[in-house]
Amino acid sequence: MKLIFLGPPGAGKGTQAKRLASEFRVAHISTGDMLRAAVSAGSDLGKQVQATIDSGQLVSDDLMLELIKARTLETDCANGYILDGFPRTTAQAEALTKMLAERSEQTPSVLLIEVSEADVKARLQDRLAKEGRADDDVNVQLERLRVYQKQTAPLIQYYRERNNLSVIEGTGTVDEVYQRLTTAVSSKK
Ligand code: AMP
Repeated sequence: MKLIFLGPPGAGKGTQAKRLASEFRVAHISTGDMLRAAVSAGSDLGKQVQATIDSGQLVSDDLMLELIKARTLETDCANGYILDGFPRTTAQAEALTKMLAERSEQTPSVLLIEVSEADVKARLQDRLAKEGRADDDVNVQLERLRVYQKQTAPLIQYYRERNNLSVIEGTGTVDEVYQRLTTAVSSKK
């Protein structure tokens, strides 16, 4: 099973992807978590990306692709994986399609978690209060939303045209959204 989770920051992708990955015994690949771990570890990669993450902008496509190419070859991906936070640009989506074609693997199914802008803003404020994440101060939140609209939202059309997009209503409780996701995933099998 290979899935891509799309949706604005604060849509609940991380929570849902983690749960689904554990139930289906596939890897949960969160590029945001990978980058934050690199920053915490103080690695060269971490030093390279810290300012970009803190500003709410996107890390370069080349760097992200390099990360994804290596990560998806790790043994825990043998059963499949859920991509959470990648691809985020059309260039990344095209590169992913190419990478999978080179490996003779199909393009994953894409699940869009749809949430209204007002809900997204409320959730981001909530997350800010709970986690105190450095990249989540109010201005950065708004910048991240703008970046999503401009650079990532076009992927909805990209995947819609390739017939592998399912739209999941992202409002409601975590359990309600999870139920909708599992129904959508099961119908694809
Ligand atoms: P996330 O936790 O997915 O919201 O990611 C946190 C930050 O990491 C983003 O705001 C970006 O700066 C960076 N990031 C994560 N995934 C990507 C990606 N696929 N392309 C570019 N930057 C990314």
